[in-house]
Amino acid sequence: MTEQEIQDSIDRYLLHHGFDAFNPRAALIDMDGTLLDSMKWHTRAWHRMMTELGVECTRDEFYLYEGMTGAATIALLIKRAFGREATDEEKRELYARKTGYFNEYPRVETVPGATRMVSCLMDHGITRVLVTGSGQPSNLARLDDDFPGGFPHNLRITSRDVKFGKPHPEPYLKGMALAKSEPWECIVIENAPLGVEAGARAGAFTIAVTTGPIPPEELWKAGADMVFPSMEQLADALPVILNR
Ligand code: MG
Repeated sequence: MTEQEIQDSIDRYLLHHGFDAFNPRAALIDMDGTLLDSMKWHTRAWHRMMTELGVECTRDEFYLYEGMTGAATIALLIKRAFGREATDEEKRELYARKTGYFNEYPRVETVPGATRMVSCLMDHGITRVLVTGSGQPSNLARLDDDFPGGFPHNLRITSRDVKFGKPHPEPYLKGMALAKSEPWECIVIENAPLGVEAGARAGAFTIAVTTGPIPPEELWKAGADMVFPSMEQLADALPVILNR
């Protein structure tokens, strides 16, 4: 991505939202598929749990639900398969079962380029806020090892902190409040269409990165201000974006 293309993206963003200036102070960052290469195991665990339940589904469709809370995903599929609302008890039990399956699979790696991306934000004095639809303690706990100092515990929005979840802007609005920042001071970094939609609706400068099978067009359609083909390429461009 050239400096001119980056400037054009920022100009389009300002025009679209009617903001005067883009002054990045905080980065609101998704976890699964953005920091951790975990989606292949999440989709496998979802598919296994739902199939056992008698719900017809494909593994790939779970990439499209990425960003929703587990409870919302369960509600959606139970409704579709059985034509009724899932109970709170069921949501808890089924999410625990899915999490159990996930934890049986190999340890997930970080997304290539993600540690460099987070280091770059830290070097530029950008506040980092984790904004995830996940509530899985195993993944949340390892962020301290994989990204030392990258994600302070008081600056995390998880499934426990939200009522609606992505694609609703709520999680990112709450992230902005934690960072004490306005939308034009925030970058959102996401890999999934529902997450991109949430970031864009919250008014942040929303950067999408393709790290899985979702085509870039879906990320543009969801409202991304920029789309990168890899986290490595975002890490390369980030100093230019932050210095605009
Ligand atoms: Mg994600």
